[in-house]
Amino acid sequence: MIEQEMDFENRIVSPDYSFAEDDGELTLRPKTLDDYIGQDKVKENLRIYIKAALQRNESLDHVLLYGPPGLGKTTLSGIIAREMGVNLRVTSGPAIEKQGDLVAILTSLNQGDVLFIDEIHRLSRNVEEILYPAMEDFSLDIILGKGPSARSIRLDVPHFTLVGATTRSGQLTAPLRDRFGVLLRLELYTPEQLAQIVTRSAGILGIEIEHDGALEIASRSRGTPRIANRLLRRVRDIAQVEFDGVITEQVAQSALARFEIDELGLDDFDRKMLTTIITNYGGGPVGLDTLAAALGEEAVTIEDVYEPYLMQIGFLTRTARGRCVTKLAYDHLGINFRDNANQQSIF
Ligand code: ADP
Repeated sequence: MIEQEMDFENRIVSPDYSFAEDDGELTLRPKTLDDYIGQDKVKENLRIYIKAALQRNESLDHVLLYGPPGLGKTTLSGIIAREMGVNLRVTSGPAIEKQGDLVAILTSLNQGDVLFIDEIHRLSRNVEEILYPAMEDFSLDIILGKGPSARSIRLDVPHFTLVGATTRSGQLTAPLRDRFGVLLRLELYTPEQLAQIVTRSAGILGIEIEHDGALEIASRSRGTPRIANRLLRRVRDIAQVEFDGVITEQVAQSALARFEIDELGLDDFDRKMLTTIITNYGGGPVGLDTLAAALGEEAVTIEDVYEPYLMQIGFLTRTARGRCVTKLAYDHLGINFRDNANQQSIF
């Protein structure tokens, strides 16, 4: 059982956005497809669709971006708008509470504009309903008045491009998902790609960094650019105060050890989650809800934030009966696999 509450909001390797970092994020955001590192398949597809739309002088088809937080979905929507030469309007599913909120946004757009809706799976049903005709026919059906005197009017909206972002495409209702012409899935980044991102960010922030230092930060960033940039800023503070300001491999190692982020990027919570599955449930399988209750964390957070990376590095598997910890994770934590794993009992 977990003895102390984890402070998820302040977790240094959280991929969530914090407003304290607003300035940093804006300056570090790549502005063109060429500056956007990695995600080659996604970039290649977008390049073609953007070129084709520009040649036909049309707005781009609606785009759905899905993948874990911090991988560059918001950044891509800005790049799409820029490459199409139109304005970007940013909002999010929970921010659009009433139909009227969405009507106000849609009627204020210009021809071709990009409307980015983050967390689009959190739109309410009745807001979603007026989005369907807007996406399909660029029109809105609005009911005026109530009861027998109510009448419906049809309002045209400019041809816009909706870019929706979600952590999982499966969370979207089918009618909404079907109305996107382009579905793109963002993948976790490799340490080499993240090292390029760290080096690029260091250049923008005027931080001196050696390649091995960048790679050290990159390999502890859980495949996520937002975390890599955050770690870079924290390591810079330590490099500046305790060393001569240059981020070398050794400086990065010493700073990251202080944040209790291990060489694979796991922090306290990851280790707690893995050891809980091992000690309380014999290594699994354990159901997501049971695990969430044991850890005092929301199931959706565990699924969207912690698991993708633990699965990518092969520490966790999802089976029909629940989550299982692999031998690799036992080895990493220094726990004897045979003594503890009930997965072995079938042999
Ligand atoms: P999301 O919308 O998926 O949560 P963001 O677009 O806000 O992620 O990206 C988080 C941060 O990571 C951005 O500020 C940006 O600096 C950086 N970033 C994301 N993707 C890339 C990339 N491909 N190349 C360089 N930096 C990136």
